[in-house]
Amino acid sequence: MFRRVCVFCGSSRGDQPLFSEVARSVGRLLAERDIGLVYGGGNIGLMADLANSALEHGGEVIGVIPSALVERELAHDGLSHLHVVGSMHERKARMAELSEAFIALTGGLGTLEELFEVLTWAQLGFHSKPCGLLDVGGYYDNLLAFLDASVTARFVSEEDRRLLVSDSDPERLLAKLLERSRQSTPESARMEGAK
Ligand code: AMP
Repeated sequence: MFRRVCVFCGSSRGDQPLFSEVARSVGRLLAERDIGLVYGGGNIGLMADLANSALEHGGEVIGVIPSALVERELAHDGLSHLHVVGSMHERKARMAELSEAFIALTGGLGTLEELFEVLTWAQLGFHSKPCGLLDVGGYYDNLLAFLDASVTARFVSEEDRRLLVSDSDPERLLAKLLERSRQSTPESARMEGAK
């Protein structure tokens, strides 16, 4: 099982109650599985729904927020730990260091930027942590179709396209990410971790 998972999601709630409901169910799922949540540290939008649900269900929640956004994103004051960092770059690097897998929920430009940053790091071999996209209510169908088009156009290899694992159901997505992580962890390291 993962010790901690990093979740990227919107600082808004979007136009459907479903987006908040799913963010809350992801927070609860992580807490119930005893997986720590690492997220952007804000108390607004889906970020708030996700973090508050994980906390309500007894989970560990770690926020990472740049000092410049503490006011704008209403830095959450009830987390297990809040890291206040100097820049957006540091935020992403710290979130990645603390986590064993990444999940993007619905969100806007910031969420997309964070997802694609960790995907490009995986593509370059800087990490081998699994990256997942939760496609709630078909929100990401066009993005997934575009990624397939980028393979057809030969800008993205089929192997790199497979770096992004997607599903519409949080539990199934988590199971797929775990399976990925087992595949990418050599047997020797797994034995080491099991000791
Ligand atoms: P959004 O999906 O646009 O609502 O943004 C979701 C989160 O991504 C917010 O907490 C933003 O501050 C954050 N974000 C936006 N751009 C970046 C970036 N370049 N690096 C780290 N976090 C970012």
